[in-house]
Amino acid sequence: MSTDLVKLAHAADYAARQHIAQRRKGERAEPYVNHLIEVAALLAEATAGEDVVLLMGGLLHDTLEDTDATYEDLEQRFGPEVAALVAEVTDDKSLPREERKRLQIAKTPDKSRRAKLLKLADKTSNLRGLMQSPPVGWTQARLRDYVVWAEAVVRSCRGLNPMLEAAFDAAHAEASRHFG
Ligand code: ZN
Repeated sequence: MSTDLVKLAHAADYAARQHIAQRRKGERAEPYVNHLIEVAALLAEATAGEDVVLLMGGLLHDTLEDTDATYEDLEQRFGPEVAALVAEVTDDKSLPREERKRLQIAKTPDKSRRAKLLKLADKTSNLRGLMQSPPVGWTQARLRDYVVWAEAVVRSCRGLNPMLEAAFDAAHAEASRHFG
């Protein structure tokens, strides 16, 4: 439906503006928006483009965590479903990194179907990024830890979408070989 395309275009535009100065942590320092578009594209393909809320969530999934966007902004611009989905995949940045990582494993099983699909796509993109452009200063052990952790987070996201699961498994297998 064309109104869905309008909403999706608005979400892409907003995400690009919010993350305008942000770069990926990898040595290539890609614009952050590349990650957001990859996540949305993975979700679009895996769901045959049938869930615009999910795709908007993919584009906006890091706006609360990494930019000055607020829940109210998202709700007003994109509606309560999108805002709630983004909130569901947002870490509490006031917590130390190790605690946030632990909580992702502990809390993902209770999340919605959409949030779980988003996690699968997000971790797939992150693992690909790790291989194509490893973060500057990360030791082999830290890279390996990330690969193991990503699999632990998405363990409860399985059985929902074979295409996304296969994309994650392929990225995870390659990253395990790469850094193992
Ligand atoms: Zn992400």
